[in-house]
Amino acid sequence: MIEIRNLCKKYELGGTTVNALDNVSFDIRADEFVAIMGRSGSGKSTLLQVLGLLDQPTSGSYKLFGKEVAHLTENDLAIYRRLTLGFIFQQFHLLPRLSALDNVAMPLIYSGLSSIHASPKNLLAVVSLQDRMEHKPRELSGGQQQRVAIARALVNEPRILLADEPTGNLDTTSQADILNLLDQMHKSGIGVIVVTHDEEVAERAHRILRMQDGRLVSDSQTKNGKKKKRTVTGINTTIDSTTHASWFAYFVKLLGEGYRAVIANKLRSALSMLGITIGVASVIAMLALGSGAQKAIESQLTGLGANVIVVRPSAVRVGGVAQESGSPARITLDDVPWIKERVGAIQGAAGNVTGRAQVTFGNKNWNTLVQGAGLEYAAIRNAMPELGRMYTHAEEQSRARVALLGLTVVRELYGNENPVGTFIKINKVNFQVIGVMPSKGGGGFRDQDDVVVVPLTTAMYRLLGKQYVDSMDVEIRAGANIDDAGDAIKEALAMRHRIPASMQEGGYQIFNLDDIRTAMTAASSTMSALLAAIAAVSLLVGGIGIMNIMLVSVTERTKEIGLRKAVGARPQDILLQFLVETLVVSLSGGALGLVLGGVISLLMSQFAGWSVSISAFSIVLSIVFSVFIGLVFGIYPARKAAHLNPIDALRHE
Ligand code: ADP
Ligand code: MG
Repeated sequence: MIEIRNLCKKYELGGTTVNALDNVSFDIRADEFVAIMGRSGSGKSTLLQVLGLLDQPTSGSYKLFGKEVAHLTENDLAIYRRLTLGFIFQQFHLLPRLSALDNVAMPLIYSGLSSIHASPKNLLAVVSLQDRMEHKPRELSGGQQQRVAIARALVNEPRILLADEPTGNLDTTSQADILNLLDQMHKSGIGVIVVTHDEEVAERAHRILRMQDGRLVSDSQTKNGKKKKRTVTGINTTIDSTTHASWFAYFVKLLGEGYRAVIANKLRSALSMLGITIGVASVIAMLALGSGAQKAIESQLTGLGANVIVVRPSAVRVGGVAQESGSPARITLDDVPWIKERVGAIQGAAGNVTGRAQVTFGNKNWNTLVQGAGLEYAAIRNAMPELGRMYTHAEEQSRARVALLGLTVVRELYGNENPVGTFIKINKVNFQVIGVMPSKGGGGFRDQDDVVVVPLTTAMYRLLGKQYVDSMDVEIRAGANIDDAGDAIKEALAMRHRIPASMQEGGYQIFNLDDIRTAMTAASSTMSALLAAIAAVSLLVGGIGIMNIMLVSVTERTKEIGLRKAVGARPQDILLQFLVETLVVSLSGGALGLVLGGVISLLMSQFAGWSVSISAFSIVLSIVFSVFIGLVFGIYPARKAAHLNPIDALRHE
């Protein structure tokens, strides 16, 4: 039942006001077949759009089934559009991506009605298109497209059909088909209101409303209308606001729609996905690298007992500038036995020097780290040779040319052969291999097994040309206080080398396991944070890419949004649809990124020898992140789309 009183609709156009509807009043019963006629520009379409709840009047009252429309919320309006009205447009407004069948079924997504009563297939049969169900609109003639549109208008079993020049774009045969269909619908108990300027079309109706310059000028019964009045029963005028039978089914349908929209624009979706993929992949790889570094540090420190400290000369600072050379704080070869004698708490001590050298075996070359270590090094660092033997005191004293190889050096120079007993050249000096060092495991940024160990004296005087020891490993006796022992060592060395009291820290620095771990961990987590920040920026850029695409997509599909709202989609349905679409893109991009990140991590550990480890944390983080990015960057365009006025959106070009 339609009751309108003093309905006005004004358009403001460049300073002038157009009265598209001027004080229009009439009633239409829910079972009538009414034609609205008038010249072009007389306000027919405007009237129908107001009746169809696609547009709001400027003033006046419109009651639909007894409810004042002006008082309805946007959601109520959507429910009325969906459950009571079926709108047919002159331009058909089918969605080009969808088949005829999917176009007809589209309103069901929003109404959630099961299609038992009016199944889309049956409706296509009613409009004689049962053999065109899978065709896209562009593969159908104008008349066929309009029949699809009629089937769509019927799928939610509306009480009133509204048609705006439904035959305006059609040839005469198609026109007859459409008119017969409208007749048939009216006979089955649906109210029909049709806008036309064609007398032939109007003759089918029972009542003709004539418009002129926005005013209703005549209201007459046709000869059809003078036949016996049908009594229509069974029209339930209460609006039931059933929404979705099942949220799950609704969501699955939305997901299908989202997937279809993504597929429809393959290249564009792939490009926006790429941003997220690269972002997630870099987050995964960077976090893997960071936690790998952490693990490498742990494994480096495992050989170092809790009662071992490292003594180093500290760089002298003058006005904050480090003075490398000329520092009086140094450790000589003699200091090692001397300090052991002097400080009672010392269990063992070994000097250390390091430098790089070229190692040759046969025709194979390898650049590696040479470590000169005092005899007690193996005991203190828990690093007895796995194969072969440690050098002896005599060898140490005589600067013997003997070497222990790390596993990486063995692999590079010998492959699978046993190196013990063979001769190699280190910086062109002949050395005999006497053993193989145990693996320190891990990797980190420097391979811990890429090392050659030689006696300290040999390294200092034959290979590296150093007069002083770089550092000294000291093992403290069980039970002794490590801090006190450290202080005693510092003091003794400072006194022996006559370090001025003014010098900070007495010229020597003591590191224990905790110090080293803290320092290394701090350095590595700073680096990890930096890497993660870079990765996050690329993820952000990916998200902005997605938002960009979604904005374009919303603008491009404004018409589609108008149509969806015209068939009863609520703002939240539109919002959800675009969010789901964004999520489909960002989640697929995220999943791809996960795989890519894994592959990159694997390659880093395989080829660069960096230790990496992918944590569950980084996987969860990147999934959460890509969903989050999708939501954040999808919401703005989706909101924009959801609140468009249906008719404005439909007019969008
Ligand atoms: P009809 O369908 O009878 O041809 P319309 O209802 O489309 O007429 O238009 C009635 C009047 O309102 C016309 O003068 C038209 O120019 C004007 N009009 C319609 N739509 C708009 C609009 N969106 N903005 C401004 N003026 C409009
Ligand atoms: Mg019109």
